Amino acid sequence: MPGLEQALAEIAAEMAQRTDRGDVAGYIPQLSKIDPMKFGMAAVTNEGQVILAGDADQPFSIQSVSKVFTLTLALGKVGDGLWRRVGREPSGNPFNSIIQLEHENGIPRNPFINAGAIVVSDVLLAGHQPREAIGEILRFIRSLADDDTIIIDREVAASERATGYRNFAAAHYMKSFDNIHHAPELALGVYFHHCAIAMSCRQLAMAGRFLANAGRSPASGHTVVSAERARRIAALMLTCGHYDGSGDFAFRVGIPAKSGVGGGILAIVPGVASLAVWSPGLNANGNSKLGSIALEKLARAMNWSVFAP
Ligand code: GLN
Repeated sequence: MPGLEQALAEIAAEMAQRTDRGDVAGYIPQLSKIDPMKFGMAAVTNEGQVILAGDADQPFSIQSVSKVFTLTLALGKVGDGLWRRVGREPSGNPFNSIIQLEHENGIPRNPFINAGAIVVSDVLLAGHQPREAIGEILRFIRSLADDDTIIIDREVAASERATGYRNFAAAHYMKSFDNIHHAPELALGVYFHHCAIAMSCRQLAMAGRFLANAGRSPASGHTVVSAERARRIAALMLTCGHYDGSGDFAFRVGIPAKSGVGGGILAIVPGVASLAVWSPGLNANGNSKLGSIALEKLARAMNWSVFAP
């Protein structure tokens, strides 16, 4: 694609110079050890071009980016019935907030805040042992990325289980409203493990291809979800994918994207490309600081926006 390779190389070079890199997530001990100087970026076009820059082949903890894939799987299982248990509105609150749950009777605002993703994990647990549900999520992501080397970082999962007090609080609180159907510890086990999946920018951009291509893998033509569902997942990414920073991200970047506290962001240019960026330092909303800036620069350079033709 004209200009894409050069834009990516220039942005990566510029990001390498920056000293204001944000703060690495400190509340998950295993993540606090990551080198904040890391930066990677990948673009996979619908035509099959793969363009990489910086540390694009180094795996990192995808954390909440995994919620895009678990939502996709849960919608495949229970369809629109999911929306009886999870909302579709931006929360305007931090990703780990529990304050709205009391006002809204244990129904999380959307599937991308922690409480919403824990309900999604509970949905994926139906009829399964946690190990099987986790295996199903991993297999799904491997098949989307066309890469069987993707693994779960068990140390990150254990680190989060040992310190995830707010997630335990949210899960138990929702259980009191019957919005968690299994033992909260089991739903949390699934949740912590899918957050601990490690992927590189290349693998993440590959896994996001179906969302940039109306629900179908551009390589095989295989249908992952309907075109309508792909549009709806992208709509949720745009409105809720960056928590209480979602409005600002839409304003600055203008394309659907989902962030994680590992510093990764998966972004979609519908009809054009799937993008991934990784820089571990976070801004005040827990979104990758340089990752957001890099996507803003790339969208501007390529004239990409869902709000313009
Ligand atoms: N596993 C993380 C948590 O529950 C995910 C949060 C995130 O990536 N924003 O806190």
